[in-house]
Amino acid sequence: MKKASLLLSASLLFIFSSCVSVQVKDNNLSSTSSSKKPKNIILLIGDGMGLSQVSSSLFFNDQPSNFERFSTIGLIKTASSSDVITDSAAGATAFASGIKTYNGAIGVNNDTIPVPTLLEEVSKKGLSTGLIATSSIVHATPASFYAHVKLRRQYEDIAAFMPTSEVDFFAGGGQKFFNNRKDGRDLYSELESNGFQVYTDKLPTTISEKKEAILLAEDGMPKKIDGRGDFLPNAAQLALEKLAKSEEGFFLMIEGSQIDWGGHSNEADYLIGELIDFDKTIGVALDYAKINEETLVIVTADHETGGFTLASDDGDYNKLNPTFSTGGHSSTMVPVFAKGPGAEFFNGIYENTEIYTKMKQLLLE
Ligand code: MG
Ligand code: ZN
Repeated sequence: MKKASLLLSASLLFIFSSCVSVQVKDNNLSSTSSSKKPKNIILLIGDGMGLSQVSSSLFFNDQPSNFERFSTIGLIKTASSSDVITDSAAGATAFASGIKTYNGAIGVNNDTIPVPTLLEEVSKKGLSTGLIATSSIVHATPASFYAHVKLRRQYEDIAAFMPTSEVDFFAGGGQKFFNNRKDGRDLYSELESNGFQVYTDKLPTTISEKKEAILLAEDGMPKKIDGRGDFLPNAAQLALEKLAKSEEGFFLMIEGSQIDWGGHSNEADYLIGELIDFDKTIGVALDYAKINEETLVIVTADHETGGFTLASDDGDYNKLNPTFSTGGHSSTMVPVFAKGPGAEFFNGIYENTEIYTKMKQLLLE
């Protein structure tokens, strides 16, 4: 088949599958409303994490893979409203707000109108909220949960949403978007006057009575293979300690941001280092949920990056040669793992927007 016709059939398929998914609602919660619902949700997003990335946790890990601890597995379709292949902004906005929007959009719809996010909605009902990323906290994935801008590159505009946001705990990089801004605003003092304790040196060992703002790098955090240490699992642990104090429950999003960056740069060591770090962080979430049984843990990805595959090394089936087919994203479906009350609703094949719908039904309806 010629390239052009392949492309055409891909877009036809895309349109067809979009139509079908509107009608098929077998997995809807309303038919099984007697099921137990969680008080807390921990959503872990592996940016750019397809099935080969997940498989790395079996072959390049000196610990058992935490992915194997899940009871329910699903697959999501990740296209955005503008493109068959999504970017992280549209992908995260689908999770955060349940809408298909254009690549580049942060918390806004196709007409660039702000849409409410799950984080904002659950906060209004009294739940505590947290965001953790290994990118800057203004990068597309975390940004889509608290900011509303037309284009993902508006980093300083995104940061300006944080002081008055519904976020109670955040940790990641991105200092320069808060304290070295073109408009001269000092967002550290704005965070403080809005009830945040600001940390810019290292992760605190104990939590304060205030909200926590933890910014530990100018922009993105260092790579795992360059000495980031246990920032991600430790920040997750700290956030859980903080958010567990909420009587009403909590919503915590944790992103393994740089799995995507290792994919973009086609560096297997970088990617696998990030994936193993993310796996360890999943372990922290699952250990918490094991003791605190009202907690649902969901792990998914916004899209796959790199066309990554664990190929054989020149036909030697005992040797893995991690290989990439693109420097960008791919359209392959990405997995969803769930464990805890409501996990069964994440079974099946469905649109990425349903991650939002299901979480909302479980926490708010
Ligand atoms: Mg991201
Ligand atoms: Zn990417």
